[in-house]
Amino acid sequence: MKLHTLTIKALRARLAAKDITPAELVNDLLQRIAAIDPQIHGYLRLNPADALRQAATADISLPLGGIPIAIKDNIAVRGEGCTCASRLLEHYTSPFDATVIRKLKAVGAILLGRANMDEFAMGSSTEYSAFGRTRNPWDFARIPGGSSGGSAAVVAADEAIAALGTDTGGSIRQPAAFCGCVGLKPTYGRVSRYGAVAFASSLDQIGPLTKTVADAALLLNIISGYDELENTSRPVPVPDFTATLSAGIKGLRVGIPKEYFIDGMDAEVLAAVRAAMAWYAANGAELVDISLPNTEHAISVYYIVATAEASANLARFDGVRYGRRSPDGTDAVNTYSKTRAQGFGSEVKRRVILGTYVLSSGYYDAYYHRAQKVRQLLRRDFTEAFKQCDVILTPTSPTPAFKAGEKSDPLSMYLADIFTIAVNLAEVCGISLPCGFTANSLPIGLQLIGPHFGEARLLAAAHAYERAHEWAKRRPGFD
Ligand code: GLN
Repeated sequence: MKLHTLTIKALRARLAAKDITPAELVNDLLQRIAAIDPQIHGYLRLNPADALRQAATADISLPLGGIPIAIKDNIAVRGEGCTCASRLLEHYTSPFDATVIRKLKAVGAILLGRANMDEFAMGSSTEYSAFGRTRNPWDFARIPGGSSGGSAAVVAADEAIAALGTDTGGSIRQPAAFCGCVGLKPTYGRVSRYGAVAFASSLDQIGPLTKTVADAALLLNIISGYDELENTSRPVPVPDFTATLSAGIKGLRVGIPKEYFIDGMDAEVLAAVRAAMAWYAANGAELVDISLPNTEHAISVYYIVATAEASANLARFDGVRYGRRSPDGTDAVNTYSKTRAQGFGSEVKRRVILGTYVLSSGYYDAYYHRAQKVRQLLRRDFTEAFKQCDVILTPTSPTPAFKAGEKSDPLSMYLADIFTIAVNLAEVCGISLPCGFTANSLPIGLQLIGPHFGEARLLAAAHAYERAHEWAKRRPGFD
């Protein structure tokens, strides 16, 4: 068995038995990457010498000792670049570690390389990276999803054992669905955002992309927890998510929201998700019809709240404090403006302009304030729903991976997020896992949604399904 195809769990056993060494594992992955990443372009930067140095000293008695992980390029690692796939941060070096990185290092993980993404995590296809698009391992003509498209692609193509991504409106779950891996967006406040470059601070969460649900539980164990450096992280207990994975689904109430089974959904996606529903019903769970009545407003609310927060968060990239500065500025204001005009891509500019507009004095009440009110209604939808069910089952995305260039107008790209966005607005947790393939071998993702801090049950529900199916064993055809 090739080492790069194995899970964290399997590799930990091999490392503990001294069957293999961390250096062998890293070398195996580096060869794999050299052979296929020129086609996938999942990585923005690799540092083979540094990865091998980490391998040489890795302590395999630690929970992730010797396990190579890819990191989305918007999470700070001390002494490394953190470009957010933007020209503006092309030459920036981070002086500190994000909390999740500090935690990964403390348990012996090897930081293998930096994964491609949509610029500043704004997008659903990774086509908005300033450094070129990532290809979907299942079909190079298609996109891997986004914005954590690089993280999903390198896991799916066995170029990393696991990866970290960020999810503001679906950016972990949707690429996981499109690439056929597992992606978990934790409850808002479960994982510290310290050191993740902020896009929309009230929505952003860091989470794992993995080959299996068990690996997601393992990584969540490590990255979770209150952080005194980040005041939206919550002081709730972190259970051992791997301990309850096999709790089963007997008596589990699975909510089916009618608003998520809509016209215009891809027929193969619908069939696969319906088959997953039937599996839950046949194996001891109970399907409950539920309603999330404000779903139709989720996209509008998201693109007001997220752009408003982004316009404030991205104000710091002014050519003075971080990264690039335009050499053509004639005075201070002109330098800010030229730096931003030259450094940001068009989607980022669109968001900053939209966000500034909805926050401007004449429009604040009409847009931002109203959006906040509707966000409360969305949150209430989920609170009400979770009185009737334990998890909610939906497709992750209405379609499988689309073709590069296919969604050239921004609105059609925004609509691709329809099933993932409300989860962030309501601050609950969600996971995407493979639930089948289309006739032309594109992965289909199943989304399960859990209540606030309900990850343990969510993971158990996902694990039961995964174990009973063979989807995770399928490999992209290019191999
Ligand atoms: N696709 C969504 C957007 O473009 C979500 C992105 C994300 O989750 N970072 O904003």
